[in-house]
Amino acid sequence: MFARMPSDTLRRWIFGDVSFAAREEYDEFRYKFLIVLMLSGAAFTLLFVLGEYARVNRIQTPHFYTMHGFTVCALLLWALLRGRKHWFKPLAWAYEAVCLVEYTSSLWLVPADELRLQWFFVNVPGVFLLLGQRAGWAIVALTVAILGMSNPYMAAPYSANAMATAVVSLVYLGVFFHVFGARSISYFNRMRESNQQLEKIASHDALTGVLNGRAYYAQCDHLIELARRSRQPYAVLFVDLDHFKAVNDQHGHAAGDAVLRAVAACLSGSIRRSDRLGRIGGEEFSVFLPNTGRAGALQLAETVRRAVEDCQPDIGHRRLRITASMGVAACEAQPLDMTAIQQQADQAMYVAKSLGRNRVSAFDELPGAGR
Ligand code: GH3
Ligand code: MG
Ligand code: MG
Repeated sequence: MFARMPSDTLRRWIFGDVSFAAREEYDEFRYKFLIVLMLSGAAFTLLFVLGEYARVNRIQTPHFYTMHGFTVCALLLWALLRGRKHWFKPLAWAYEAVCLVEYTSSLWLVPADELRLQWFFVNVPGVFLLLGQRAGWAIVALTVAILGMSNPYMAAPYSANAMATAVVSLVYLGVFFHVFGARSISYFNRMRESNQQLEKIASHDALTGVLNGRAYYAQCDHLIELARRSRQPYAVLFVDLDHFKAVNDQHGHAAGDAVLRAVAACLSGSIRRSDRLGRIGGEEFSVFLPNTGRAGALQLAETVRRAVEDCQPDIGHRRLRITASMGVAACEAQPLDMTAIQQQADQAMYVAKSLGRNRVSAFDELPGAGR
C-alpha cells in the first residue's frame, strides 16, 4: 500500500500540513527529526510488545505495560505535533520526559537485561540536536543522577566499573554532540545566509537593485495565477526612457548608469509594496500591478510619469531632466498571460513614443485594439 502511495501524500500524512520559510531550515529539520523519533520510538517499542505477545522475546514484568503506555504516548504526541510547528518545544520536552520515564522503567523493572542502560545513551544525541546544548547537558546530568541513585536499589546492580564507564561515556557523548550541534547550527545559518545572497544576486539587477527580467516574469506569472483564481484584474505598465542614448553620448556611460539607478529608485518609490518592478531591458522597466484595473493603472502611470520627470538625477556636476514614455495594458475580463499583456503594454509604449514621448498610452486606445 505504501509503495503505491505518492511520496508527497505520505510525507504530508506523516508531517502534517506545515510549511517552513527558507530562514526556518533548521527548525524544519528539528520538527521532522522529532516526528521521526516519535514514530520510530513507538514502532520499536511496539516490536518489543509484539515480541512478548509472540513469545519471542519475553519481558514478563510490569515493564510490558509501561511499553504499551510509551507507544500510546509517543503516537499521541505525534498526533498533537502534526501540522503544529509552533508546539515543537513543549512537545519535544514532553516526549523527552516520556522517554526518560520509559528508560527508567526498564532500568528498574527488567533486571535480566544487562544492556538496558543503552537506552539512556540513545536518548542523548536527540536532546542535543532538538533542544540545544543546555537541555542536552541537563539530560546528561539527570541521567547520571538517575543511574547513580537507582543502582544501589536495583535487583541486579551494575558494578562500580560499569557505572564509571557509563558516566564517563555519557559525558563524552555530551561533549561530542555539544560540538556537533554547535557546528551544524552554524553550518545551517551560513548556508541560509549564502543561499539568500545567491538568490538576491540571481533575481536582482546589479545596477539598479530592482528585479531582473527572469525573476520579474516569474513573479508576474505567479501573481497572474493568483489573480485568475480570485478573478481579480491586473495591469502592466511598460516604461522606456526617452532619448536615453543621448544621455550616454553627451555625459558618458557612468552618467547613464546614475540616471538608471535614480529612475529605478523613483519608480520603486511611486508604486505599492504589492506591485512588482523589473528592469527588463537596458533602459526599460516594467511594473506589474495586481488587483488593478485600467483606470487605476492609467492613474498610476501618470503619477509615475510625473515622478520620473521631477526626479532630475544628479550626474555629479549637474542634474538632468529625464522623461519616459509609458504603455499601459490591463486585464479585467479575458485572462491574459504575462507575455501577451507585456506585448500589449509594449505596443502602447511605442504609440506614446510616436505621439511625442513623455506621455502615457493605453493599449485599448490603439486603433484596432478594441475594448
Ligand atoms: P527612445 O526615446 O526612442 O527610447 O530613444 P533611446 O535613445 O532611449 O532608445 P534606444 O533603445 O535607442 O537606446 C537605449 C540606450 O540605452 C542604448 C544603450 O546604450 C543604453 N543602455 C542600455 N543599457 C545600459 C546600461 O546598463 N547603462 C547605460 N549607461 N546605458 C545603457
Ligand atoms: Mg528602449
Ligand atoms: Mg528609450
